Amino acid sequence: MIPVINPATEEVIGSIADSDAAAVDAAVSAAEAALGPWSALSPPERAGYLRALADEFEKRSDEISELVTRQNGTPISITRAMQSQVPVCYRYFASLAEKLSVEERVETASGDAIVLREPVGVVGAITPWNGPQPLIAWKLGPALAAGCTAVIKPAPETSLDAFVFEEIVAAAGIPSGVVNIVTGGRETGAALVAHPGVRKVAFTGSTAAGKAIAAECATQLKRVTLELGGKSAGILLDDVDLEAFRPLVLSACAPNTGQTCRALTRVLAPASRYDEVVDMLAATMSGIPQGDPLDPGVFFGPLVNAAQRDRVESYIELGRAEGARRVIGGGRPFDRGYYVAPTIFADVTNDMRIAREEIFGPVLTVLRYRTEDEAVAIANDSEYGLGGGVFSPDRDRATAVARRIVTGSVGVNTSTLPIETPFGGVKNSGIGRELGPQSVDAYLEYKTIFRA
Ligand code: NAD
Repeated sequence: MIPVINPATEEVIGSIADSDAAAVDAAVSAAEAALGPWSALSPPERAGYLRALADEFEKRSDEISELVTRQNGTPISITRAMQSQVPVCYRYFASLAEKLSVEERVETASGDAIVLREPVGVVGAITPWNGPQPLIAWKLGPALAAGCTAVIKPAPETSLDAFVFEEIVAAAGIPSGVVNIVTGGRETGAALVAHPGVRKVAFTGSTAAGKAIAAECATQLKRVTLELGGKSAGILLDDVDLEAFRPLVLSACAPNTGQTCRALTRVLAPASRYDEVVDMLAATMSGIPQGDPLDPGVFFGPLVNAAQRDRVESYIELGRAEGARRVIGGGRPFDRGYYVAPTIFADVTNDMRIAREEIFGPVLTVLRYRTEDEAVAIANDSEYGLGGGVFSPDRDRATAVARRIVTGSVGVNTSTLPIETPFGGVKNSGIGRELGPQSVDAYLEYKTIFRA
């Protein structure tokens, strides 16, 4: 068994099975058995089940939110906002299923052909702890729409909510075996990836784990989608309206106590306004309440576990050693819980490790640029390419800069990610895209029947 610990109190609040290869095999067998009948349903029939899933999820959204916050320390107002997106997501995938064309006639030089789009098979979905239910929805939604069945392996830190999700799936009337859950850690995930019955892996998590998964998938030529880490740049153009940017600081730069893959943790400020930007960020970040994540007025919580807290603290130490100027934060604000005070480093240069490596905590680095070309060059000088942001009252000017950033997605004057468009990364941030209309394609195979 693996204990589940509340990171705000350090108390054990439950435990989950550390599933072995036999348990993984049983889950994959159940998914294989359910594949034929599920894929035989028409896409609109599957859409009906996705809509029922959305309805049932809504009924238990509050319960799930509280459970997630108790497990990962995400402030409850943020958890609720994230859970409220889950039914929206399942309904979106239902609408895609309703429009899904699974058969097309093509006239050929030698006759004609029928081009079929068939489900890829059993999907292994592996998720991290920072957004457990939304990240399941991003994978399960298109998988079910396409006619695939799935085995989900949630992160060990956030598996208790997966048990509630199991009940939601049953309440939605989804046939037994279509959605299966196995709990456990890295070994359980590795057993799922290596199982020959799994024909596609959809993974969100660290770049290191993503590379190990890609290597295993290569040996069996499995389809794989990887949503990995990031070190995204938020470029404030020299005409930026800092009062307009201020309300976005939390959601754009340090959502979920900085534990968000697409957070803009490198803030690029024009040299002409550098001090003004640093002062605004310091005042804003230090004014955001930190404390009990179940308090709806709190927007910075603890980090997810002791290891993550230690890792973030080691980066704060590194920042000092590298010569960056610590403007705020750096300490432990409470005696209990895995808290780190929100921290800002100024005078950061892009060769410093705190500017290059993903810290995954409430730590911002503020870099100086002189020209727009230099800002773009700094933004692109990264091994990652997941998110990005450009801020300016001149939308067209900001959009022109956004076009030049090598990344998977960029927000212009916003941090709200639309579910109707593709999301994913380039370089070490991953392979493939989730969300958007094309996301269902990743769960389909083409088959051609060509005829004389
Ligand atoms: P992690 O990679 O350690 O674990 C993620 C999941 O994968 C967990 O369920 C874990 O048990 C499992 N796992 C770990 N190693 C595995 C392996 N070799 N084979 C199979 N399964 C394995 O990541 P984490 O620490 O839980 O999450 C934080 C990381 O996730 C950060 O780097 C963050 O940037 C990234 N992340 C990315 C996105 C995105 O959309 N790109 C979203 C959220 C988090």
